[in-house]
Amino acid sequence: MPRSRWPTGRVATTSDGVRRRGKGLNAVRHRHRRLRRRLQAKRTKSAERLLKRRRRREARFAANVNHIIAKSIVTEAERTGRGIALEDLQGIRERVRLRKPQRVTLHAWSFHQLGAFIAYKAVRAGVAVMVVDAAYTSQRCSHCGHVDKRNRPDQATFSCTSCGFAEHADVNAARNIASRGETGWAVSHAA
Ligand SMILES: [Zn+2]
Repeated sequence: MPRSRWPTGRVATTSDGVRRRGKGLNAVRHRHRRLRRRLQAKRTKSAERLLKRRRRREARFAANVNHIIAKSIVTEAERTGRGIALEDLQGIRERVRLRKPQRVTLHAWSFHQLGAFIAYKAVRAGVAVMVVDAAYTSQRCSHCGHVDKRNRPDQATFSCTSCGFAEHADVNAARNIASRGETGWAVSHAA
């Protein structure tokens, strides 16, 4: 379920079309980066200490954002009596192509942490969780199944070259992940 693009501030997208934003995350990271550069240039003991403190604060902030997002996703799944299909986040760094200035804001550990928080909260709430293969979920049309690189004219847009279906790219991908989760669930419970 979480489809993630830190650079636009979007952390997770559900198949309902709800996109969760990591409000302020990027601002904090940029501020941190600027400060780090300045402090690293100093190379003093106190600069080192300050750096360490900033790093911890940034991690706490990101963890808090992930907790809030995970909670809202699990609560919604519980309320509507559904399970959660999580995209397998392995190799997120390789798959997400970004312009240089944006790349620095991409932290794989945050994605893993969000996934872990969702899984943990879902188990506690009795909500089923499945991890599904994310291959081609961004290029596949969730309406007709057509897979084509050209279905993605840009980062935010999905527009099917076969049936004409158009949707936000993250929402389309989330729907593919959701339907993979349903299929996987049916197979694993048929035996
Ligand atoms: Zn289509």
